[in-house]
Amino acid sequence: MNNFLNKLQRFLYGRNGLDRFSIALAVFYFITSIICSFFKNPIIRLIPLLPLGYLVFRFLSKNLTARRRENDWYIRVFGGFAGRVKTTYARLSDTTHKYYRCPNCRQRIRVPKFKGKIEICCPKCGTKFIRNTGK
Ligand SMILES: [Zn+2]
Repeated sequence: MNNFLNKLQRFLYGRNGLDRFSIALAVFYFITSIICSFFKNPIIRLIPLLPLGYLVFRFLSKNLTARRRENDWYIRVFGGFAGRVKTTYARLSDTTHKYYRCPNCRQRIRVPKFKGKIEICCPKCGTKFIRNTGK
């Protein structure tokens, strides 16, 4: 077993492995394989193999510069979007805090819920404003 792990380690050494773009490809593969399983057409059913093949290719690739460039491109184009989905989800599922934007600098501020009317001081620009956090 140890011998096997050593071999595996040597095999993976210097290869790209998983990065954020690979994870996105895995998600894309998962989604397309579900969608394409509804079709009888054999060509449509092969579509999920494209992201999967690319994922395996990138995982085993030794051209780290090119893979890094693809990953940077992915983060530049989609990273902001994925981050926004995540923070919006976190905000909506937060039952103990309310989120406001500073009227002056648009900084997002998290305050505890159910404190009635409170004065909020923006930590970024110092602007004070009053909001009702509920009872
Ligand atoms: Zn502010």
